[in-house]
Amino acid sequence: MTHKTYYDDLYLREIDAEVISQTEHDGKYNIILDQTIFYPSGGGQPCDLGFIDDVEVIDVHESGDEIIHVLSAPVENKRVHCVLNWDRRFEFMQQHLGEHLFAGCIYSLHDIHTARMRIEGDNVSIDTDIPADMNKILEAEALANEAIYKNIPVEVIYPDMEEVKANARKLPPENAETPIRIVKVEGVDYVPCCGLHVKSTGEVGLVKVTSVENHKGGSRIYMRCGRAAYRWLASVHEEVRKAESELVCGYDGINEKILSLKSQIHALKVENEKTIERFLKPIAESLLASGEKVIVHVMSNSNQDEAKHLFKLITESNHDAIVLLACETSEGAFIIFGTNKANKKVDVRPAFKKAINILEGRGGGNSFCAQGWGKNPDKLNEALELAKAELM
Ligand SMILES: [Zn+2]
Repeated sequence: MTHKTYYDDLYLREIDAEVISQTEHDGKYNIILDQTIFYPSGGGQPCDLGFIDDVEVIDVHESGDEIIHVLSAPVENKRVHCVLNWDRRFEFMQQHLGEHLFAGCIYSLHDIHTARMRIEGDNVSIDTDIPADMNKILEAEALANEAIYKNIPVEVIYPDMEEVKANARKLPPENAETPIRIVKVEGVDYVPCCGLHVKSTGEVGLVKVTSVENHKGGSRIYMRCGRAAYRWLASVHEEVRKAESELVCGYDGINEKILSLKSQIHALKVENEKTIERFLKPIAESLLASGEKVIVHVMSNSNQDEAKHLFKLITESNHDAIVLLACETSEGAFIIFGTNKANKKVDVRPAFKKAINILEGRGGGNSFCAQGWGKNPDKLNEALELAKAELM
């Protein structure tokens, strides 16, 4: 049985321990010690990492009464020196308590229960039993931060089951070891938990919700706590600073500037469409005036959008004409074949397939419109003639 020294002193970063056993598994070494400061993964909190006698600890997990330390190489000594990756542990303790504060607050404010919690890198995620809207979430976030300013001590207690049932925001699992380990933050949270937490709320520093998504009838809330929250805010600020510089405004003017730019882009698009139509309309009319059953046209100095636009002008003009349009750009040859939607007598796909194969390209569509790109524009005329013959 490994003694869990991490419960005796959450802030112990180094310790000496006796090696009880060491076994090799696929080139890795499983070591059991008489006592440990390495917290194993569990309850949503990732395991501690660090070194045992200068050998890297790559995983720590619990198996029955024992804590298994997985090492990249064997240790030589019977008595070893253990050193935690302290920054990692401290940040997990900040994140874990931050999660408690938020969960306790959203429960007391809105009677929303939280189930699964997971710490993944800088992210903490919590699932709620019912949907939590942004207003409720932000209220809970604000209250959690108030608890941080009050710097409330975190207590670990082992009360009897009656007291647990009367006070806990959620009950321990049926098979939980007794007595139940309760993590209590006076006035904020009271919950069964086997994880590790900083010793007072002030050490969490900050809780900031970053996003929310729908999840299994409830919400999945993502947040940052402690040093991870600071890192996140610093990177957000860096992006905001760049946007302020590009848009020549303060952070509170960014949204207004973006809305104004969007409306300018929309107006330009409308103007551009009108210009394209003015220049394409006569081309469509002259192609339709030819009276050909199959209209073939290669557009010079044009792009895919213009070809699609001309295609639309011709096919939507209520004629039964079949149109084979193409344009060449630096990226290859674009072809679009089709007819008016109402023209059920024609299926352009067999002709399109032949043409796109000659052009060594890819594409597809339906009976009245097929389009694609070919990488062999030298064969464009050959491809169009073959397609025309197919459709005559
Ligand atoms: Zn906890």
